[in-house]
Amino acid sequence: ATPMSIISGVGRAAEFGVLVRDADALQRASTLDTLVFDKTGTLTEGRPQVVAIKTFGDTVEAQALRLAAALEQGSSHPLARAILDRAGDVSLPQVSGFRTLRGLGVSGEAEGHTLLLGNQTLLNERQVDTAEMAEEMAARASQGATPVLLAIDGKAAALLTVRDPLRDDSAAALKRLHRAGYRLVMLTGDNPTTASAIAREAGIDEVIAGVLPDGKADAIKRLQSQGRQVAMIGDGINDAPALAQADVGIAMGGGSDVAIETAAITLMRHSLTGVADALALSRATLRNMK
Ligand code: ADP
Ligand code: MG
Repeated sequence: ATPMSIISGVGRAAEFGVLVRDADALQRASTLDTLVFDKTGTLTEGRPQVVAIKTFGDTVEAQALRLAAALEQGSSHPLARAILDRAGDVSLPQVSGFRTLRGLGVSGEAEGHTLLLGNQTLLNERQVDTAEMAEEMAARASQGATPVLLAIDGKAAALLTVRDPLRDDSAAALKRLHRAGYRLVMLTGDNPTTASAIAREAGIDEVIAGVLPDGKADAIKRLQSQGRQVAMIGDGINDAPALAQADVGIAMGGGSDVAIETAAITLMRHSLTGVADALALSRATLRNMK
């Protein structure tokens, strides 16, 4: 039989915007020791903006932006929206052979050129020499921005710098969780330098970066095999397998339906303050039973 106090805990959680699936979820939430956060859209605002464009060789900025935006028309990634916003109303060329390379970027052909757009791993995989861009990339990444690289016909052509700032309340909520004794982990497909800079700002203990979308659930499994009781907090379609693998999956409000369907706990508001509230309540509820 389910103890009444847990049921009333589930009800109290709902009063401050935390939807707990069932009594079992609240019980599991009370014994967590490790909290894993998706970066984009969970710790950060998730509305990245292009803040700089640097070109290489004989590429000019307008051409780089036009070709990058043309490719991104086929992508639903937050980075795609940033690049399309920056391009504004300019007319974009037709793209043929468009491909999404999950966790890496996009590719295709336009205006007679072969195009690659994405992270350094993608360009290096395709034998594009990125040495010329290295210094600028490192500088931008160490400030917490994400470098997006454009190659035209196999040559490094432009570096777009994209920034996605932390949410206003992320650092304060994480501080509260840290004080409550949780180990805080960031899980992201972004590069390690960018991820570490943002983690430092947010007060995160451990960074797992450069993870391909299919690797997120495995990363959770590895933490569990170290004996940790793990919650995953995320909002994207990509996060669903990791939410399912975690001891408790927590979906941020306003995120994808798939994430919400998979999660044991859903936050009505898109704020990490709700995570701290939910976990404090789960501990208090279960403590009262002893
Ligand atoms: P996350 O959700 O943690 O940002 P993703 O797996 O979606 O991770 O993406 C990982 C990385 O792949 C991004 O940081 C970016 O460098 C690159 N990438 C993915 N999709 C695109 C895209 N449409 N345009 C440019 N870069 C992309
Ligand atoms: Mg995400």
